[in-house]
Amino acid sequence: MELDGTKVLERLIRRYPLGVRRIKEFLDSVEVYIRFQKLAEDNYGFYFFGDLGFFIILNKKRSKNYRKLTLAHEIAHIFYHKEQEEIVRKYSFGKEEDRKLEKIIDNEAQRLCHDYPDFIERLYRNAINVSKERLSYRLL
Ligand SMILES: [Zn+2]
Repeated sequence: MELDGTKVLERLIRRYPLGVRRIKEFLDSVEVYIRFQKLAEDNYGFYFFGDLGFFIILNKKRSKNYRKLTLAHEIAHIFYHKEQEEIVRKYSFGKEEDRKLEKIIDNEAQRLCHDYPDFIERLYRNAINVSKERLSYRLL
């Protein structure tokens, strides 16, 4: 029977859920930069892996709450980046799987915002203050 790659990611997240300590440790081990840009209205933001490290782009046009959720969402993507890439490479990934993967990551982001609102707020504020510098340094 063919395994669904999204199930693998779900299982992984259940085993290693994101929390404040895990995020701090993680951000200490990678380079993460935040940029605020004007994107299309329906675009929340995105992340990519560049020469310097990870970049998170947040949409200036969205409300603060959306941007905070997007920040948590992109951090979740980055946290599971390696595993995500592996899963996408290993299993067949079409539109449906992409949609499922986004939903899984988004659930994790919503849980983070719900369980650790102060931490996410602080992360967001630091992202504004030091958007040209590495986010990781200012968190600790
Ligand atoms: Zn996403």
